[in-house]
Amino acid sequence: MNLEDYKDVWVFIEQQDSHIIDVGLELLGAGRELADKLDVKLCGFILGDHVTEAAKSLYAYGADKVYVIEDPILKDYRTETYMKATGDLVRKYKPEIILYGATANGKDLASAVATEVMTGLTADTTLLDINVEKRLFEASRPAFGGNIMATILCKKHRPQMATVRPKVMKKPDPDWHREGTLELVSEAISLKEDTLRTKVIEIVREAKKAVNLEEADVIVAAGKGIKDEKGFQMVKELADALGASVGASRDIVEAGLCGHDHQVGQTGLTVTPKLYIAIGISGAVQHIVGMQNSDLIIAINNDPDAAIFNAAHVGVVADAFEIVPMLTQAFRTQ
Ligand code: FAD
Repeated sequence: MNLEDYKDVWVFIEQQDSHIIDVGLELLGAGRELADKLDVKLCGFILGDHVTEAAKSLYAYGADKVYVIEDPILKDYRTETYMKATGDLVRKYKPEIILYGATANGKDLASAVATEVMTGLTADTTLLDINVEKRLFEASRPAFGGNIMATILCKKHRPQMATVRPKVMKKPDPDWHREGTLELVSEAISLKEDTLRTKVIEIVREAKKAVNLEEADVIVAAGKGIKDEKGFQMVKELADALGASVGASRDIVEAGLCGHDHQVGQTGLTVTPKLYIAIGISGAVQHIVGMQNSDLIIAINNDPDAAIFNAAHVGVVADAFEIVPMLTQAFRTQ
């Protein structure tokens, strides 16, 4: 394999019913930085049926070029068809780096493509960078239970590939004056429906979650420092006064004070609200990776050495049971 044949940064643009899923746009933002450092093009690739119009919107989010494969056979995601089509694209155009959203389909496709084109894959990354001199993609992710950040390199194979969880990267503000080029790649589809092993019979959408922390602008999150049901109620009252959603550390979820759909962190949700108030949360790395990209983080903890203060923009050393009711009262009367 001649590594120098490979260039450009590519992003898999996942769509459902021709609507682009946000994580693809977030990755165009991250991919733009990588492409600029390497001085190469940033390209999106989108597969589906009737997706050309949606594809044109990608220039606004930073794509220089978009590869489109349109075919009724690609209407709904299937490992077989998407892997084959992406594999053909990769063999033909030789991208140096490919980013995928770590959604159910993105994770499935990325690992299938890795085997199809015989390259490596770093899953669930939270940091992306480039060693420009060596032209090496540096994809980092928490490892050993989140105790270290591991940077994983793919030295001998191309493309270098990673999945990135939704909301870890910031979606860029669109610039609707930006222009790009679009390439319809029709020859990539050599599949026939009757030769496929899988058929999509019905798509059953998941019922909307009762809590949608990923969309919340303000989150008030409870940690073990609030101790029990009464403390959790105190946090909920502050959230109510602020019109905020309630988040939680894993210890709170494991204590049965709320459901897993409130958990923020490595094995919970990644959130990026405008304001994140962490109450009685120690700041374990597994929690931090899920909220560190919030615009403003306020931490309340009675231990001045708590690690959460390293991630917080504003730190309040105080007993939660004293300060939280005072804050609730103050916001209620505003
Ligand atoms: P603690 O670490 O017990 O901290 C409680 C804090 O409250 C302390 O800092 C204390 O000083 C403070 N406090 C006590 N009393 C008061 C008071 N009266 N007023 C103010 N502050 C007070 N954790 C997650 O949150 N999300 C995850 O997704 C996650 N995934 C994990 C995955 C793996 C593989 C592993 C190994 C762990 C994971 N964890 C996760 C667990 C994580 O390591 C921590 O154990 C957990 O985040 C600690 O929760 P906590 O901060 O609520 O509790």
